Amino acid sequence: MALEIEKIAKSKIAEVDFSNLSFGKLFTDHMFECDFENGAWKTPKIKPYQALTLDPSAKVFHYGQAVFEGMKAYKDDNDDIWLFRPDQNQKRINISAERLDMPAFPKEYFFEGLSELLKLDSAWVQKGDGNSLYVRPFIIATENCVSASASTNYKFMIICSPVQAYYGGEVRVVIADKYSRSANGGVGFAKAAGNYAASFYPAKLAAKQGYQQVLWTDASTHEYLEEAGTMNVFFRIKDTLLTAPTSERILDGVTRKSIIQFAEDEGIKVEVRPIKVTEILEAAKNGDLLEMFGAGTAAVISPILGFAHKDEKIELPKVENSYASFIKKSLTDIQRNLAEDKFGWRFKVE
Ligand SMILES: *Cc1c(COP(=O)(O)O)cnc(C)c1O
Repeated sequence: MALEIEKIAKSKIAEVDFSNLSFGKLFTDHMFECDFENGAWKTPKIKPYQALTLDPSAKVFHYGQAVFEGMKAYKDDNDDIWLFRPDQNQKRINISAERLDMPAFPKEYFFEGLSELLKLDSAWVQKGDGNSLYVRPFIIATENCVSASASTNYKFMIICSPVQAYYGGEVRVVIADKYSRSANGGVGFAKAAGNYAASFYPAKLAAKQGYQQVLWTDASTHEYLEEAGTMNVFFRIKDTLLTAPTSERILDGVTRKSIIQFAEDEGIKVEVRPIKVTEILEAAKNGDLLEMFGAGTAAVISPILGFAHKDEKIELPKVENSYASFIKKSLTDIQRNLAEDKFGWRFKVE
């Protein structure tokens, strides 16, 4: 496959304070770009990270025809760079693209672009606990036309941002009883940009009450727990882990499916089934609800310390032998090449 590479004249890396990064604000020296025109993807390019020039009528600005992915690259003590299950992200961006009536991006281009970009910017993947490079592939509609129909032109890109250990602070959630993130027949299962735009206002209302995230429920009854804004959600009742089944409303998270497989392999009982709000409230009141946590690439696992539902406020007790800590440590050890990879999840960049 032809890939054009234009290298930056002088790296910006010397100016970066890697001990003081805020999530997703700073990007590496290069970016990967490939345009779709006249029904085909053109020659992909890696070039110096730079602003795009788009016509104001580009469809992405008007109709939100955009999908994205999020993954992380890690560097081990031998300076090898690893990704975690990138095949899953590659498949998922095309599942998302299909739902938004966008063309699939070829698998070979995805992997070639990803690997070459990471090799070129390998100095930006820092070693050490918590450090990683956040990788953001995305596709936007670039046709210059404000008629409300699918674009004829698109741009696929990958940009990368160095990040430190993700500490989102203490997380408490509000269980949604009015707003919804997604509905049957909608785009909830897709990593569509607009899903996020629609979640910001309810999230702001939650923040005003002192809650960091919304825990979404099913749109028709608000009786079943689904997922948080950027994370799938797990509940530990006694020694069983519960999580909602994926559906057309819920994003099929790589972290979620890895946790299920890992936990089952460890002999932890996992139930994947619809979870009622009332069941979790009851379990919280009688002391059986031991843990709640979110699962997603950015934080891997993010413990949820409490929640509100209508007028009720619940604080979870401190738990010993937390599943969240055990699973997080085990998964990040696999990701960083510090533990055996018995599921074949690691992908070496070479
Ligand atoms: C990205 C995302 C997740 C987490 O998926 P991972 O593949 O584990 O990163 C969960 N829910 C939503 C809505 C997301 O967009």
